[in-house]
Amino acid sequence: MMADKTRSSLHTLITKRYMLAVTLIALLSSFAAYTLKSALSDVDNTAYIVNISGSQRMLSQHIALDIHRLYQQRFVMNTEQTETENLLTQHIDTMKSANHQLASGQLNNGHQLELSPTIRDIYFGDIDLYDRVNFYLKIATQILDTTSEEPFLQLMSEIDSSSENLLIDLDKAVNQYQREGDERLEIIQRLEVGVWLVTLLTLMLEVIFIFSPMAKEVIKSRDAEQRLLNSLEDQVELRTYKLEAANKKLQELASKDPLTNLNNRLTLEVDIETLIKGFYSHQCPFAIALIDIDFFKRINDEYGHLAGDHVLKEFAEILQSQGRNTDKVYRVGGEEFVLLLNRVPCERTEEMMLELIDKTRSHQFNFEGQQFTVTISMGLYHTDLFPVANLRDLFFVTDKALYESKANGRDRLTLATRM
Ligand code: GH3
Ligand code: MG
Ligand code: MG
Repeated sequence: MMADKTRSSLHTLITKRYMLAVTLIALLSSFAAYTLKSALSDVDNTAYIVNISGSQRMLSQHIALDIHRLYQQRFVMNTEQTETENLLTQHIDTMKSANHQLASGQLNNGHQLELSPTIRDIYFGDIDLYDRVNFYLKIATQILDTTSEEPFLQLMSEIDSSSENLLIDLDKAVNQYQREGDERLEIIQRLEVGVWLVTLLTLMLEVIFIFSPMAKEVIKSRDAEQRLLNSLEDQVELRTYKLEAANKKLQELASKDPLTNLNNRLTLEVDIETLIKGFYSHQCPFAIALIDIDFFKRINDEYGHLAGDHVLKEFAEILQSQGRNTDKVYRVGGEEFVLLLNRVPCERTEEMMLELIDKTRSHQFNFEGQQFTVTISMGLYHTDLFPVANLRDLFFVTDKALYESKANGRDRLTLATRM
């Protein structure tokens, strides 16, 4: 659930950052495309205007030539002049239109060109090219309508004299337009390099400020998930440990007698099975002593139930102190106990059990100022006596021996006999 949430917020984060990165590049390339497009259109216009200004020189020469041809046809040869007149008219018109475009920047192709101060100066400053061209064209137009030779010659000489200087200044304009066109081209080239550098820089900055933090976020989220997993593992481990401890406690509770803290009948059966198996597989000898306190009911009756409990507890301690470390003691009923002895010879076992009977008999029990003694009866089985097939048979022969001890006057032990 939590992992899902983290994953979806990580997904949003990555998407947002990626969108930011892509948007930046998109903006940048749009800007670059727009700038280049307008720069290129500037270049187109410059080429157009350089072309016009170049043709101005030619036109001024054409006009001068046309006038001379017209003079020849009209006054010297008296021949047909219509073609020349048309040509002259056409040249005048073209030059007039070109002059207007060059001086205003308002191009016939529909674009408006921003004129530089130098160009303005050429056309409207000291050089005054605009008016001089117009004046030149005005004289040429006048010539067209001049039919008398004298004024024609006068106007023609004016054309001739101004033509040369006009040519020089028209050259200046052409060169200036040419120079400005070259400068624009250079700016575009620089702009291109600039756009390329800015794009590279943006990509690098995106790597540093967008993609790298994004990668860090991804790693961080993965680490967090790992930590969560580890803590879950820890919790599971802790619970398992607690469960194991609880199980152990439960097992202990199930296998122990609460009054004496001795093992109970449940564990006795398991342990005997093990001993029987050991005997049959490795001939390991063992013995079992079934012990019952004599006339225990009387203690309860005479001294009270609590006194009886006290005897049970104290007798349990005698049993434990009498046995070896390897021997096991059980409380199997009200005042019935069992001793399991492992790998002790039969005779030694009998000696030890007699010692226990003596020790119990001579023990002074003390409970709330009252003193009393008890005796015990015992049925004893040892593997040296005869083999038994199973737990049921073992209990049977031992119980029978205990019963005999009771029947024969108590405070004694009886060895088990075959069934
Ligand atoms: P015998 O010599 O034939 O064994 O006589 P007995 O009185 O010992 O045997 P019996 O079976 O007649 O009585 C056993 C008594 O043990 C009966 C019961 O009240 C008492 N008893 C059983 N468990 C406990 C216990 O936990 N505490 C106390 N105080 N008495 C118990
Ligand atoms: Mg009994
Ligand atoms: Mg008894």
